[in-house]
Amino acid sequence: MTRIQDVLLQYREICSFCDSFDVRVRTAFPSQIACRPGCAHCCTLKTVCALEAFGIRLHLKRAGCRLVPAAQAYTSDGEPLCPFLADGRCAVYAARPVICRTHGLPLVVPGEKEPDCCPLNFTAHSVRALDTSYLLDVTRLTKNLIRLNIAFCMLLDDRGLSGMRYRMTDVLAGALPGVLLRAAALS
Ligand code: SF4
Ligand code: SF4
Repeated sequence: MTRIQDVLLQYREICSFCDSFDVRVRTAFPSQIACRPGCAHCCTLKTVCALEAFGIRLHLKRAGCRLVPAAQAYTSDGEPLCPFLADGRCAVYAARPVICRTHGLPLVVPGEKEPDCCPLNFTAHSVRALDTSYLLDVTRLTKNLIRLNIAFCMLLDDRGLSGMRYRMTDVLAGALPGVLLRAAALS
């Protein structure tokens, strides 16, 4: 029988895949990646699935970290910033969600004909000219994440959780369903 730890292991494999992809792109195109600590215009994530909310709460528990909600901050365009952003850095970097690990990478996005990328990156080298091996397939990543999230929620005996999204502000405050908090406390 699949256990929560097995699902978590597979989730970490998805995260590691994104991180390795990031290293490969940075190594091949060092002058085309502007991502750096303190640059955080992309940190506008609002919600996550149950598995990723669990992963962040588990990380906070293991790190013995108690984060206090701060006043809402905004990008220069007025978009709300993620509450885990503190002094321009991610407070849960090691446990950041999958989508955060794709920030700045050349992406093949569902429904888009052309690859996409943060406008601060690949300014002197069009992502359209990249070999497909440097394009991250978001559809595939998303499918794997959905599959794992369903498996996780079924292990918690609550399939309904898999259709829910949890606000990052609630993840930070620990305002999540008891079954998720109990699973994080016991893992
Ligand atoms: S979780 Fe971290 S990396 Fe992701 S949006 Fe929030 S601050 Fe940024
Ligand atoms: S993806 Fe763009 S906004 Fe985000 S860190 Fe990289 S360069 Fe900065």
